[in-house]
Amino acid sequence: MIMKGKKGVILGIANKKSIAYGIAKACQEQGAQMAITFLNDRFEQKLAPIAEELECGTRLYPCDVSRPEEIVALGEALERDMGQIDFIVHSIAFAPKEGLSGRFVDIPKDAFGVAMDISVYSLIEVVRELKPILSSSSSVLTLSYYGGVKHIPNYNLMGVAKAALEMTVKYLAEDLGKDGIRVNAISAGPIKTLAAAGIGDFSFLLKWNAAHAPLRENVTIEQVGNSGMYLLSDLSSGVTGEIHYVDSGYNIMGMPAVLFDEDGKSHIAWNGELK
Ligand code: NAP
Repeated sequence: MIMKGKKGVILGIANKKSIAYGIAKACQEQGAQMAITFLNDRFEQKLAPIAEELECGTRLYPCDVSRPEEIVALGEALERDMGQIDFIVHSIAFAPKEGLSGRFVDIPKDAFGVAMDISVYSLIEVVRELKPILSSSSSVLTLSYYGGVKHIPNYNLMGVAKAALEMTVKYLAEDLGKDGIRVNAISAGPIKTLAAAGIGDFSFLLKWNAAHAPLRENVTIEQVGNSGMYLLSDLSSGVTGEIHYVDSGYNIMGMPAVLFDEDGKSHIAWNGELK
């Protein structure tokens, strides 16, 4: 039981398709004790059965990260109910829909601010508020995507947010390393979740990645969950500030993958059509 004796909090489970749910399951299977959060009353009822399945007991707390007072209240509730904790999973992102399709140049200023606030600054704020209860060998994990490193069609505003998030991981890792707190990110390949549904032509992205990744398939929340559990556990005690790709290897490709026919001629594995 790799996570036996570890306690932590997971932010960002919307349903059983969420990446955070995959991470939570992997941690539970390895003996971790957890708390989870929900965005608002509408989601509390939806998450209650998931909290039960994850054996969270009554540790199901509200936390809309756009409300600083809710992050403070989360810290207080965790301290009261769990004492010290050993891990935090930040699996949260949001951008207004005008930031996820169309011309990049047209992104409105207020949409930019909202995306950076919820998808990036919240990591700093959550870690700062929970720092007093983090143990001296603890681990923080957030989720990124390749669109923060290279241009991906329609990822637009979220690409800028992920670039900022990845640098935030590195600056936090340096700052908190002396306190025994590690900070890492998983850059996951595309997965069909609620958040992903907001990205223009997402089904095209899924097909393209599956066709051109070295492993020729998309990743699952179970695969991301297992890698996440490793980064939260002591198995990764020498790892911090890392952006760990769990994407079937897609990020190493410099060109689309090719297939060879019987005559030895090469063809692009799938040249895709947008519609
Ligand atoms: P998801 O299931 O929709 O999870 C996103 C979570 O963010 C939801 O639980 C959502 O809550 C929460 N959230 C949004 N605004 C919030 C706020 N103000 N306060 C607190 N929580 C808030 O989608 P997901 O794909 O698993 O996304 C998790 C993370 O993985 C995100 O950072 C995403 O960018 C990243 N990621 C996803 C993919 C992919 O292809 N799916 C690939 C790489 C990285 P509600 O649902 O309750 O609104």
